[in-house]
Amino acid sequence: MGVPRSASVPRGAGLLHDPRLNKSSAFTEAEREALGLVGLLPEGVDDLDTQLRRALVQLDAKTTDLERYIYLSQLQDTDETLFYRVLMSDPARFMPIVYTPTVGEACQKFGHLFRRPRGLYVSIKRRGHLREILRNWPERDVRFIVVTSGERILGLGDLGANGMGIPIGKLALYTAAGGVPPQYTLPLLIDAGTDNEELLGDPLYLGLRQRRCGDDELDSFVDEFVKAVQQEFPRCCIQFEDWAGNDAVRLLERYRDKVCCFNDDIQGTAAVALAGVLSALRITGTPLGLQRFLFFGAGSAATGIAELLVRAMRDEGLPADEARSRIALFDRKGLVTADREAMHDYQRPFAQRRAPITDLASAVEQLRPTAIIGLSTVGGGFDRRVIEAMARINERPMIFPYSNPTSRSECTAEEAYSWTEGRAVFAGGSPFPPVRYGGRTFVPGQGNNVYVFPAMGMAVFATGAERVTDEMFIASAAGVAEQITEQDLGNGLIYPPISAIHETEIHAASRVAEMIFAKGLATVERPQGDLQDYIVSQAYVPKYRSLV
Ligand code: NAD
Repeated sequence: MGVPRSASVPRGAGLLHDPRLNKSSAFTEAEREALGLVGLLPEGVDDLDTQLRRALVQLDAKTTDLERYIYLSQLQDTDETLFYRVLMSDPARFMPIVYTPTVGEACQKFGHLFRRPRGLYVSIKRRGHLREILRNWPERDVRFIVVTSGERILGLGDLGANGMGIPIGKLALYTAAGGVPPQYTLPLLIDAGTDNEELLGDPLYLGLRQRRCGDDELDSFVDEFVKAVQQEFPRCCIQFEDWAGNDAVRLLERYRDKVCCFNDDIQGTAAVALAGVLSALRITGTPLGLQRFLFFGAGSAATGIAELLVRAMRDEGLPADEARSRIALFDRKGLVTADREAMHDYQRPFAQRRAPITDLASAVEQLRPTAIIGLSTVGGGFDRRVIEAMARINERPMIFPYSNPTSRSECTAEEAYSWTEGRAVFAGGSPFPPVRYGGRTFVPGQGNNVYVFPAMGMAVFATGAERVTDEMFIASAAGVAEQITEQDLGNGLIYPPISAIHETEIHAASRVAEMIFAKGLATVERPQGDLQDYIVSQAYVPKYRSLV
């Protein structure tokens, strides 16, 4: 399909500097003639596959993933189609570069690596002007904003304005993994200052050079932001990302029923964990409603998963009280019990009516969980005593150390398999290599949020959903779990391989879209025929379009 001339296609050098339209060496002879490009390009005319080959050669020549990250960022700034062609050519290779773990290092060095701005920077000193700032964005139809305050970037803490790397990377995956067309996405940083001394003292730091504001000031600023988004981009879904734990929980509660929004750290994590549990149950052959879950770590990620598990158990017919009683939390003070003086509101529903326990292995012995889920940031927290206790109690103990990065993982895959004599059903938050044990090879899965948020984005985009609900996250989890083959399960793998991420997302997105239509949350007509075909028809494909 050609782009009509009237759509004000820039000419000459201006066209080469427009990342969305630029084809670089792939401009055809006719386009070069018609668009004033003759002489601005070498005579050779490539196709996209040849350009891909050249980009791969250049990426191979780099010696570190950070250099590859910088190369890919520049490609995104100069030739968006080729950038996505590269990413989608080998997701298992490129996702860890544009997103975790490399993006973490890129954020830490953001002020030093900075070349060209991307996204919107909205600082607290611009209060009262947010609509004007949103109008500065060149696109008028924005469907997704990923917004961070930069206060809890991955496991790295407060990185202030350097956190912008996260919305950028996340939205690249909305497109590369989920298929959301990139022109509808907007990375955004709310710069509310930083308490990171190192950054405040760094002459190359690019953010607001002041300490973070208090909760009330932040909340009223976010309120202005959310209203401004509603006014300027009425079809936009806001994804909150990497906010400090309490802010994350508070803001989600404030907006989840009022606007189209979600928090990936809470809800996306929960859906990914639920997907892992659902696949694991295909191995153990037991229903969800008979499980007992013990969480090690009782923060926003753990309680988000706990809430979604309750919801999923209720969907299976279990009364809410009984579902809650099947979940226990254990934090730095020990088992969360009802007699504790201080606890967060979001922990209260899971507080146990029993005597305090301060040792995790004893908690396992007494509560007899079928699954232990680590979200504590404590490397080695699932020690041999804990895992052996799980193996004594369960034929197939479910062991999910989800803390990141790898050094914080509560146990390694090797420990889980060897201390359970190969009976563990295992997935980690970080990637682990295959494990040989007892003559078998186990392939550890990674509970990576990337299985869910791009699918959620694609489903919301394709249906114009008005809200993002827990039911939609449960549907996404079921969709991911359905993509795991019997052979994967036989190898111990409870998440689909990242190499097949696009197929997984499209399937999960169609399950979510089904739910959106069923609940009357869509703003488009339900298409005739197969929903998955419809999702595929709406998905972005990185290919050049004729400009003449
Ligand atoms: P958080 O700070 O909100 O919660 C951490 C919890 O761990 C708190 O309840 C704290 O009391 C508890 N804890 C700390 N030290 C402990 C100790 N010694 N013993 C017992 N409990 C202890 O953090 P969060 O946002 O909930 O994230 C927790 C971890 O989960 C991080 O490592 C994060 O990277 C990881 N995470 C992984 C995924 C994923 O794999 N998909 C998603 C989200 C978060």
